[in-house]
Amino acid sequence: MTQAKTAYQKPIPLKDIDNAPYWDAADKHQLALQKCDDCNAYSQPPGPTCAKCGSENVSWEQFGDDIKATVYSYVVSYRPFLPGFQDELPTIIALAQLDKVPEVKIMGNILNCEEKDLEIGMPIQMTWVDITEDRALPQWIPATN
Ligand SMILES: [Zn+2]
Repeated sequence: MTQAKTAYQKPIPLKDIDNAPYWDAADKHQLALQKCDDCNAYSQPPGPTCAKCGSENVSWEQFGDDIKATVYSYVVSYRPFLPGFQDELPTIIALAQLDKVPEVKIMGNILNCEEKDLEIGMPIQMTWVDITEDRALPQWIPATN
């Protein structure tokens, strides 16, 4: 089997029983978060039980595709730490604090952003990069409004 030159070379996030709803939503360019039915805490990344109280009564809340956040912290990477990233250096990797759910922070790259324009607290919004025909990766871009 030969692989097309344009094939996505980076690792594709694996779906498992705990995180499948998160990635299923991402593949549709939406955000879903796991929430505890007992203590109302969100778990991100998701797990088999609530990260806060250990309850197994967890469900999923859909947040749609309009996801605003601010930069909580970031690192700028000048060397590829995984295969497939070498053409995109430097890479800005940020921890994004969600506007609607400030206790939830989601890690992702900030695209379309120069390092000099980057600052803690800057508004960003979620975007989704289609990496295969049916998979998409949540990332961040500077907020447009
Ligand atoms: Zn809980």
